[in-house]
Amino acid sequence: MTDKAHMPESMPDAICYEDLISSHSGDYEWPVFDERTASSLCYTSGTTGNPKGVLFQHRSTLLHSYAECMPDVVNLSATDTVLPVVPMFHANAWGLPYACAMTGAKIVFPGAGMDGQSIFDLMEQEKVTLSAGVPTIWLGLLAHVKQAKTRFSALKRTLIGGSACPPAMIRAFREEYDVQVLHAWGMTELSPLGTVCTFKSKHDSLDSEAKLALQNKQGRTVFGIDMKIVDADGNDLPWDGEAFGDLMSRGPWVVSEYFRGEGGNPLQQDNHGLEWFPTGDVATIDPDGYMQITDRSKDVIKTGGEWISSIDLENTAVAHPAIAEAAVISVAHPKWDERPLLVVVKKEGEDVSRDDLLAFYQGKVAKWWIPDDVVFVDELPHTATGKLLKTKLREDYKDYKLPTT
Ligand code: ADP
Repeated sequence: MTDKAHMPESMPDAICYEDLISSHSGDYEWPVFDERTASSLCYTSGTTGNPKGVLFQHRSTLLHSYAECMPDVVNLSATDTVLPVVPMFHANAWGLPYACAMTGAKIVFPGAGMDGQSIFDLMEQEKVTLSAGVPTIWLGLLAHVKQAKTRFSALKRTLIGGSACPPAMIRAFREEYDVQVLHAWGMTELSPLGTVCTFKSKHDSLDSEAKLALQNKQGRTVFGIDMKIVDADGNDLPWDGEAFGDLMSRGPWVVSEYFRGEGGNPLQQDNHGLEWFPTGDVATIDPDGYMQITDRSKDVIKTGGEWISSIDLENTAVAHPAIAEAAVISVAHPKWDERPLLVVVKKEGEDVSRDDLLAFYQGKVAKWWIPDDVVFVDELPHTATGKLLKTKLREDYKDYKLPTT
């Protein structure tokens, strides 16, 4: 997919995309059919199990696109130039190709170059105003921009989701580069947008630390999506920002079943006869409706009957100046059932000892949350969509002997 001038010599039999389409008419006769006809098929990232297929309709995709453009969601307009660094196979690049076409925004695709420098160069060359991707991608970009002592000339906002965005990343974008992070939560099963963290007018008067604390939350529902949190018996939990439980969702772009009915009916009916999709995430919701993911239910560390959020422990680790990326997994413990193990990658040229890193947790989390040990590695395993592959880490460290056993 390039123009004639850039065809690779190493592939003499390749057909140039522009040649392929040039013999065809530029007009297209739009067909008329049932709006519930299938339009695209994506598979979940397979972070916690086998990927499952979700078949989207023209109708659900169109409704999702309208919602995505709204001011308190992504606020897309014809004046934007959008670079989705998230691939098309990851929940349709988060719906951006459709939403951009709907508004007339210019859209730029990155191709194979996913390193910090390539992404930065492309952003500058095309004057990208809005980008989107998982936190792993932005690690490389921020490291490049810092090292090259440069700045973004056009970038205003970046949509970050797929995994929890570490507060240190939101802070770096805002304080060092004047870029607003839109922290969003979604799932392939939700087409994918569920919530986005944008402010209300009551937050205008907050100082920057309070605003940052709010942005650590995954945000408010996009209109069309309904959500609630429930306990193990399916009872509704309060929206007080403290109680955490299983996050349930419903709406016109939420899955009703997996492709080819795999796994049976995924929905659960409540006492009012409403059907909800259990997201597999554990969350709190505050009185203003801001949802925060505590963990994925499969990643929660269950210690002595209490739960520890792996996301909180990872966020604390990456706030340390020497740490680039962190994963916290549970390791079996004879007394406490499970205890947290911290697996980290150091930033290039930086150093920190195990004890200093653990001491960094003092005063930031409850004492009994502090990981029992640290493993330093050169890199962490990721899925094709750039998420930490904790199933692999748990397998790799299943026989790990904690110093506390
Ligand atoms: P998979 O479930 O296999 O990872 P998806 O790519 O559809 O496949 O991912 C959806 C999941 O990603 C959510 O259920 C949630 O656990 C996680 N996720 C998405 N956005 C966020 C976010 N902003 N913070 C924390 N977790 C997130």
